[in-house]
Amino acid sequence: MKIELYKQIFENLPEGVAICDAQQSIIDVNKNFEKLTKFSREELIGTSLLDIIKFTKEACNVCEEDDNDAYQIGELKDKDNKLTCIRINQSKTAEKNIIYLVIPFSSIAFLNQAHIDFVSTVSHELRTPLTSIKGFADTLLSAGNSLTQEQQIRFIGIIKSQVDRLTRLVENLLTVSKLEAKQSKPIYKAVEVKKMVESILCSIQHKAKNHKIEVNILPSLPPVWADTDKLEQVLMNLVDNAVKYSNPGTMVNIEAGFVPNDTDTIEIKVKDQGFGIPKEHISKIFTKFSRIDSPLTRGVQGTGLGLYITKSLVQSMKGDIVVESSDKGSMFTLTLPVASPEIYTQQKFQERE
Ligand code: ADP
Repeated sequence: MKIELYKQIFENLPEGVAICDAQQSIIDVNKNFEKLTKFSREELIGTSLLDIIKFTKEACNVCEEDDNDAYQIGELKDKDNKLTCIRINQSKTAEKNIIYLVIPFSSIAFLNQAHIDFVSTVSHELRTPLTSIKGFADTLLSAGNSLTQEQQIRFIGIIKSQVDRLTRLVENLLTVSKLEAKQSKPIYKAVEVKKMVESILCSIQHKAKNHKIEVNILPSLPPVWADTDKLEQVLMNLVDNAVKYSNPGTMVNIEAGFVPNDTDTIEIKVKDQGFGIPKEHISKIFTKFSRIDSPLTRGVQGTGLGLYITKSLVQSMKGDIVVESSDKGSMFTLTLPVASPEIYTQQKFQERE
């Protein structure tokens, strides 16, 4: 049983793995090593690893000589003679065999860049409100007595709104990390769209007091099969954006009905008459920290995480979300399954398994 498990892990490791004897003759390889070299396992076993891999640089001099984390840089020549830059980790087994872990540099560079981008954006997003909070708090401390009461209240108001911005960012980051760790599984229920929209409008009425909001829900629409809290977060974000990214006095429409020719799926549309999303940004809008920098949106506060969270939540509930936009406004269409007796029974079965 244990050997089977090790074999499975070996086969599915993301790195290419080759096990060699002391003379560097290949004893075994995993699936990814076959993929990287384009040779089959049968072709590889018995050949010398040095026919395929050339070590170009010495082990990383920061690491200890016999440290298993030490790595070397090399070049891998595949069956078509194509060369790929690789990082190689090697470690010895008790039987004096050598295990080589191979990973192409392109994948390492990609992972590192995504990590660097994330850290630098989060640091920037944290530093901006912190600088403002510190500046206004310093002024209040050092020159508070010489400020008018009106100025003092204004400065405290700015500090509060920057603290709110930080809180939003931290909450969004926590949601992102939970989503990415797949920690919060949806708790499905039959959710009445009409009731949910009414509750959202109630919570957003203060922000949307200068907009006209029109709701149009198909009479006798069946409930959707969704997680109440997650769906509320999704709709709240869409309506909040529709209000944020459009001028006061314009209209926001919320519509719900069946997807044309599909009575198993419900679509909910949130339409605005706002600034719209330029074509070149449409594909990026659901990715982390994507904000459109234009004179129209510059003054609007946000973290650029809302739509990323929205899409991830919708997909976690087996739904989908798309956007259409022009300079006359945007329309987000969310689709979710109808809460049918079949879906309910299916869920009961899954719970029992
Ligand atoms: P944010 O916190 O910045 O609002 P989102 O992820 O919700 O983050 O949205 C990402 C970006 O997409 C926004 O910064 C904005 O530029 C654009 N956007 C989102 N919704 C709309 C909309 N309804 N109309 C125009 N632009 C929008």
